[in-house]
Amino acid sequence: MADLHQLPRASRVLFCFLTVVAVRVMRTEPSAATAGPPGKIAVIGAGIGGASVAHFLQQHFGPQVQLDVYEKDAVGGRLATVTVNKQQYESGGASIHSLNLHMQDFVKLLGLKHRREVAGKSAIFNGEQFVLEETDWYLLNLFRLWWHYGMSFLRLQMWVEEVMEKFMRIYKYQAHGYAFSNLEELLHSLGGDTFVNMTQRFVAESLLEVGVTQRFIDDVIVAILRASYGQSVVVTAFAGAMSLAGAQGNMWAVEGGNKLVCSGLLKLTKANVIQATVIAISLHNAEGKTFYQVHYETEEGQGSSFYDIVVIATQLQDRKNNITFQNFDPPIAEFPGTFHTIVTSIIHGYLNSSYFGFPDPKLFPFANLLTTDTSALFFNSMDNLCPVNISGTFRRKQPQEAAVWRVHSLHPLEKHQLKILFRSYYSVQVKEWQAYPDYESAKSLPPIVLHDNLYYLNSIEWVTSSMEMAAVAAKNVALLAYNLWYQDLDKIDQKDLMHKVKTEL
Ligand SMILES: Cc1cc2nc3c(=O)[nH]c(=O)nc-3n(C[C@H](O)[C@H](O)[C@H](O)COP(=O)(O)OP(=O)(O)OC[C@H]3O[C@@H](n4cnc5c(N)ncnc54)[C@H](O)[C@@H]3O)c2cc1C
Repeated sequence: MADLHQLPRASRVLFCFLTVVAVRVMRTEPSAATAGPPGKIAVIGAGIGGASVAHFLQQHFGPQVQLDVYEKDAVGGRLATVTVNKQQYESGGASIHSLNLHMQDFVKLLGLKHRREVAGKSAIFNGEQFVLEETDWYLLNLFRLWWHYGMSFLRLQMWVEEVMEKFMRIYKYQAHGYAFSNLEELLHSLGGDTFVNMTQRFVAESLLEVGVTQRFIDDVIVAILRASYGQSVVVTAFAGAMSLAGAQGNMWAVEGGNKLVCSGLLKLTKANVIQATVIAISLHNAEGKTFYQVHYETEEGQGSSFYDIVVIATQLQDRKNNITFQNFDPPIAEFPGTFHTIVTSIIHGYLNSSYFGFPDPKLFPFANLLTTDTSALFFNSMDNLCPVNISGTFRRKQPQEAAVWRVHSLHPLEKHQLKILFRSYYSVQVKEWQAYPDYESAKSLPPIVLHDNLYYLNSIEWVTSSMEMAAVAAKNVALLAYNLWYQDLDKIDQKDLMHKVKTEL
């Protein structure tokens, strides 16, 4: 090697400059030159998690990587519609918060539109009467809340806003390319120990701590959680905060149906969508490289393919998915916890307003009914639905007219229960969902990394389960896979990220 001091000054400066550049390049992509991009990536599941991870993986690794997306049922997963009288209605994930920035980006990217909002009032029913009723007057609503519950609603709002503000940091981290290898690190970087603890305690404890009253929790918080998660205050504090943020308004949906985001992203990435049920993933090593063999079943029989990277974008706790792992040493452990069943019934009929204390159906003013935790009640919530396509002239049906209602319950509605809620009906369509984690059933968060290049996207559901959380997890998994593939370890699990992103160019 040349002795630096023997070179002329100009050459010495050039030498030093080139050395600095070389070191920088090595630090940002140390093994890119040797490793090259992955050849094939498999994604299992074509819900919003699978579709968005396919999109983000392509964004990072480039269009030359082959992306295979396995789907055993319909693209969209828990984003689905049912058809009543030639119109489609959301039967799964329905509303999106205005601060859900990945979902907002997808809609823009795909040229989709927000659906026009049609106003409708809400009320909370306790099986005998309404404990809280929304009016047309904003100030009157505020006054009623204050009259019944004192400052609880303000304290709730402040608590939720603080959580949301910290949660929004994730978008900055992700825009700077930072990823997290486990959920605890991710939560810690957003809100410190408090956020991690919020996945280990119930929402009621956190709310009582900030001065929300037990009465407000029993009447209002429980009703919102029953409507959103089908569970009451046994929901964890973090999941509860996210769900309560949604209840404060500013919600939207995609014109034409939320599932259009999934099909749109898959089309955009030109991923191969393979209609097949993945039954197993086995590990293979050849020439010092790790490969994953994905085994699947189709109507024609069984098959398999090899991949460099695999992302599981479905719940592993759902026994029906039943993917087995072979040749892994140590074996991939079973994940504790169960999923919560929610039954969605889409009913086209005439509401029995008398049951709710309105003998004259014309006077029934509500479009959304929430319920308190009362053993006599056999449903969690009821919503008068608007179709996924709303024309400029659309109006909500008058309360005495036949309308399409969505009823959420823990068990399928029996005939006599339908007769209680509806004077008569034309049709009932039922969908039973493995909807959300049973937040009481697991004490720790599942991993994101199951093996070197094998990722579990849906572990995030144990923090919160929503469309946006699936998209956040998708971006994290894509960044993590990319950073690990190129050994860019400076971009994984970094501490003090708020400071880092502020000082980075
Ligand atoms: C009734 C209901 C209401 C909801 N309301 C809202 C809401 O208002 N707002 C909101 O943000 N969220 C809501 N959610 C939650 C939201 O819908 C989910 O969090 C989100 O859609 C999950 O997306 P995912 O892609 O992670 O999982 P999924 O949508 O479950 O996708 C997983 C996919 O994997 C496929 N799959 C599973 N196993 C295999 C296999 N072995 N081989 C191949 N394919 C497989 C499945 O068929 C499925 O399509 C609601 C959920 C339900 C059920």
